Amino acid sequence: MFDVALVGGFVVTPNEEALLDLGITDGKIAAIANPGELGEAKKTVDATGLTLVPGGIDPHVHCDLAIDHEGHDLAVSFGPDVVGTAALIGGTTMLIDFVWKDQDESIRSGIDRVRERWDSVSPIDYSFHVVLRGRLDRATVAQIPETIDAGFPSFKVFTTNVFPSAPVGGVPLMIDFGSLQEVLETTRDNGGIVAIHSEDDDIVQHMYRRLLEEDRMEYTNMHLVHNSLSEDLSFRRVIRLAGQVGNAPIYFMHVSAASGVDAIAEARRDDQPVFAETLHQYALHTRHDYEEHDGMKYHTYPSLKEHEDAARLWSGIADGSISAFATDEQSTSYQVKTQGNRVDDVVGGNAGIEPRMSLLYTEFDKRGLGLRAFVNATSTNVAKIMGMYPQKGALAVGSDADIVAFRTGLDKTITKDELHESDYTPWEGWQVTAWPAMTLLRGAVVAEEGSFVGDPTGGQLVPRSISPEVAKGRRFV
Ligand SMILES: [Zn+2]
Repeated sequence: MFDVALVGGFVVTPNEEALLDLGITDGKIAAIANPGELGEAKKTVDATGLTLVPGGIDPHVHCDLAIDHEGHDLAVSFGPDVVGTAALIGGTTMLIDFVWKDQDESIRSGIDRVRERWDSVSPIDYSFHVVLRGRLDRATVAQIPETIDAGFPSFKVFTTNVFPSAPVGGVPLMIDFGSLQEVLETTRDNGGIVAIHSEDDDIVQHMYRRLLEEDRMEYTNMHLVHNSLSEDLSFRRVIRLAGQVGNAPIYFMHVSAASGVDAIAEARRDDQPVFAETLHQYALHTRHDYEEHDGMKYHTYPSLKEHEDAARLWSGIADGSISAFATDEQSTSYQVKTQGNRVDDVVGGNAGIEPRMSLLYTEFDKRGLGLRAFVNATSTNVAKIMGMYPQKGALAVGSDADIVAFRTGLDKTITKDELHESDYTPWEGWQVTAWPAMTLLRGAVVAEEGSFVGDPTGGQLVPRSISPEVAKGRRFV
């Protein structure tokens, strides 16, 4: 006797796309059967007419992040309660946020601090990347293996300070290249992966200075600061370093330019374990959107680029160079998001997690990429790369019953009034053909028809362990 029978849906499993019934027990998928052949359950949920895919995983969100620009009021992005609720309603069932450890704090205590917060307010399952910045001392590098063993095998680094002058907590964002070499050596040897915000800091800082001298500081020039050349140079330098460090696995965050996709594609052709995400923001918006009167609402770092760049991101998804879509969520009010209007004070981050799955379902379908490619890019691939597959990222026997049931064939317009993550959305007016009818987290219906109906603190930490197969690069994901 199953706890729940989810019947009548069109289901995407790792092996097939078909009308199948799912039996769920103790939060896990216990059986997958042909229609009508499942057997008895305590509760039956009717999914007739719905398309069932693995719950989305967003590997890149920032909750509770301080937004600290000179001349602005200090603001903090919304927490796991708001973001997690919006994510679940939109069909995403797991988030990976970041641990920003204080300089005099151990990695372990940084994780405990952030974890306590998520434990107490998160409705959605979660994990964290550990941010390493500045010049690393021996003591910090020595904590990497135990952090990996504790279920946190991914480390985030920046190769740029991003802003002209805004060290977070007095520590530069940017890691020095020697420290990065040590991090790569240590993660390679201990089953970790390095996630990178990769830009060439010399180019970025030079362009801030140049635009200042030329009196061209309007934020609409953001793509000239965080530009394609910077992405090209930095990606290739990082790829070269990781290759020289015995092919250490790396994961590029928020790829925004054609030059970046090209660098990744070349490395993967050489079988280097290089993986990458882009953002729906980058694939569907361009820097021309900055020209709107409040076009800063579209901005997220590095920057929106040209139409050709967005096109290359899509071809990168099609050819496998790009494995995943993230949001780089950093949801704030409209007032906070639009308070800056210069290249040195515009607010980054993005409110886009709730419509992410529906938008991407629609855009994959429109481009003929197919349902399986959609599932891979929104859930499966990142579960594999970040070490939670097949617990997450698959509708398979033994996997967590994290399921989004889409109603498809719609002609729906996205509007902020229906969303739950902010008082604005950069996706206002976008048309989608799918929207979640319900979302299940570990077998429990947590969202239904646009409303949250789950346990507001029901989210759980997901310990992760990266497969040794990750070393195979494109032959893995
Ligand atoms: Zn980010």
